[in-house]
Amino acid sequence: MQLSPHFSLAEFIASATAAAQNIDNRPDVAQIAAMKRLCVHVLEPLRAHFAKPIRITSGFRSPRLCLAVGSSTDSQHARGEAADLEIPGIDNVTVATFIRDRLPFDQLILENHVRGIPDSGWIHVSYRDGRLRKDVLTYARRTYFKGLLP
Ligand SMILES: [Zn+2]
Repeated sequence: MQLSPHFSLAEFIASATAAAQNIDNRPDVAQIAAMKRLCVHVLEPLRAHFAKPIRITSGFRSPRLCLAVGSSTDSQHARGEAADLEIPGIDNVTVATFIRDRLPFDQLILENHVRGIPDSGWIHVSYRDGRLRKDVLTYARRTYFKGLLP
């Protein structure tokens, strides 16, 4: 099933942890609708701008999968509103800066990026209709900081 022209449901629900621990990671209709909105409003424009495939490292996570990977069950991943991603060949700071400046989103987090190592870490981005806070954070050394690379 396609969520949008370049993104499939399969890549959003794939999880090595879910497979290894036999955790049900199937989304419901509302969660699928949320993933489609994230794809249409954020991921497709991002892919079009850089003209390169985006790798989704973590998309949807059921509450049980959230617990298994140590994330909150309140995570936007559990609603289908968030994805962790990178674009192979493009610096994560460049990608995050483009999202911050040019795309609609609710929350953007540059996670575990190490300055001077362009492909280190990954990008978390979320989208929710009616809540586009444009909250921008960097997560490093187990701490959240306001903005990108403050
Ligand atoms: Zn995330």
